[in-house]
Amino acid sequence: MEIKKFKDQKELSNEVANYIISLVKAKPKATIVLTSGDTPKMAYQILAKKANKDAFKQVTIIGLDEWVGISPQSEGSCRYIVEENLLKPLGIQSSNYTFFDSLTNDLDSECKRIDNLIFEKGGLDFILVGIGLNGHLGLNEPGSSFESYCLVTNLEEITIVTGQKYFSSSTRLTKGITVGLKHLLEAKVAMIMASGEKKAEIIKRTVLDQISEILPSTCIRKHPHGLLWIDQAAAQNLK
Ligand code: PGA
Repeated sequence: MEIKKFKDQKELSNEVANYIISLVKAKPKATIVLTSGDTPKMAYQILAKKANKDAFKQVTIIGLDEWVGISPQSEGSCRYIVEENLLKPLGIQSSNYTFFDSLTNDLDSECKRIDNLIFEKGGLDFILVGIGLNGHLGLNEPGSSFESYCLVTNLEEITIVTGQKYFSSSTRLTKGITVGLKHLLEAKVAMIMASGEKKAEIIKRTVLDQISEILPSTCIRKHPHGLLWIDQAAAQNLK
């Protein structure tokens, strides 16, 4: 795993945007999984402004995860955040991206649909994830197997409580549907992006704790091309 530290969220976001632009330049038909959440928003906004829209016409984008039972139109859905900050401004056609349909009553088939898409595309070229305060990547909560492709998970209390920040009113969150850690481990490049003081402790644990499914974020250290890109505030507990 390679750790890169940046001055602040702006510098981090700028470099993540540049990284994605270079990746797509090198492989215009890249298949990419993108996270939602607060962390990547600025990177997506920069990317949407800077990128040559034509260069992204053949890229396939897959949403990392979704809250089960939450409509894609909800402002707190994972899909909404990525669509509004990146996909719409960048002019990505809806046929070139997909998110989990978390309203379906057949979540297993939904997992298989995304698994099959990733396999058909020959695997992922890049996966970008944030990190939860409990070390989750996507909605792979503590205890999620490193051997799972897409899966449905039960959310921990901390994720349910923290997740309220995306919604304007109190929202019942219980389960997540997510790209699994096996896809992350098989992707050509996997990047965890983290910013801010509140992530400092979990970043330290990600780097120093034993690699274990108890702390999903430690799986990045098993990845032959795993990147941990963080700002100074998130890095403050590292030596
Ligand atoms: P955040 O979420 O970017 O809103 O902090 C990160 C995550 O839970 O993966």
